[in-house]
Amino acid sequence: MNPKKNKIIEDIEFIINHKDTSFITYHQYKKSYDFVDKKFPEAKIKNIKIYICDKNIFNKLNYNNVYGLYCSSLKAIVIKKDSDIDIEIVIIHELLHYVSDIVNNLCSRKRKNEEDFVLANLIDYLIEKKWEEKDIIMYLSKNRQCKINEAKDFFEEKRNKTNKTKKFRIL
Ligand SMILES: [Zn+2]
Repeated sequence: MNPKKNKIIEDIEFIINHKDTSFITYHQYKKSYDFVDKKFPEAKIKNIKIYICDKNIFNKLNYNNVYGLYCSSLKAIVIKKDSDIDIEIVIIHELLHYVSDIVNNLCSRKRKNEEDFVLANLIDYLIEKKWEEKDIIMYLSKNRQCKINEAKDFFEEKRNKTNKTKKFRIL
């Protein structure tokens, strides 16, 4: 899903200002923050506060299949409360969007490149969490909006790079 930019800004402001929205900080989800901080210390993501709201608010704004949003104009992350999802992964995913914006701004800000950057850097976490390969590939396919075969190639390519160099950090 790729809604118009202005809509994202408006929606994120709406969520942030909603009376039922709360927030997450480093101390509550150290594992997620540390995973990203270790790879990109220069982004100083430990200071980032992440807004969290009820899934009904996301649904009301038509983000039914979206778990988190990042807005570069506001430098804000919002995620939804949903028992179906692994919140640690959503936090890492959105923090990596932030990193891509802050650290990677030399590279193209094209939506697809940014998503690939996020996913490539998230793969080790999914492996660490003992996700099965087929589930990782499904996750990649869904987020890249690509076919399973392409997601599989992407996985093989990025996984190998990640294994070879611990400090893997580019597309
Ligand atoms: Zn994403």
